[in-house]
Amino acid sequence: MTITSMYKKILVAVDVSSEAHQVMQQARGLAKCFDATLQLIHVIEPVALNSPYELTPDLPIEMQHVQVERAKAFLAKLAMDFDLPDIRQEVRLGSTKRNILETAETEKIDVIVMGTHGRHGIGLLLGSTATSVLHGTPCDVYTVRIK
Ligand code: AMP
Repeated sequence: MTITSMYKKILVAVDVSSEAHQVMQQARGLAKCFDATLQLIHVIEPVALNSPYELTPDLPIEMQHVQVERAKAFLAKLAMDFDLPDIRQEVRLGSTKRNILETAETEKIDVIVMGTHGRHGIGLLLGSTATSVLHGTPCDVYTVRIK
């Protein structure tokens, strides 16, 4: 295998924050180097609205719908901002780690690109999402140092 054929399919995991642009910038650079395809994923984790003691773990369906539509619009704009309007974009509901890893597996992804940190602060070397993806990844993971 030559170095340029190492990565053919790149999965870019983004949260819906301004850091997503830094992640995408690097991912696009990698895609150019390796002549690879890019695809975007964002995962929405259901959160409890009520007391943790009540058995209502999911957002009401209408709110979920609004969140999904907002996330889809965010991904579409991100792709447009990088002149890549046709790349595959996916919004999934559930565990962020599980959905990223499942997608990597089923789509036969060669490398996942994600930020070292996103919305969860820069207190640690790696944020919780990157750390959790590293535990169980079926492929390489490229972490983008968020400035
Ligand atoms: P965090 O560990 O949450 O600070 O996030 C680190 C990186 O994980 C972010 O820069 C994104 O690349 C990715 N990420 C975080 N949250 C999500 C999410 N909900 N969906 C997809 N990727 C995410």
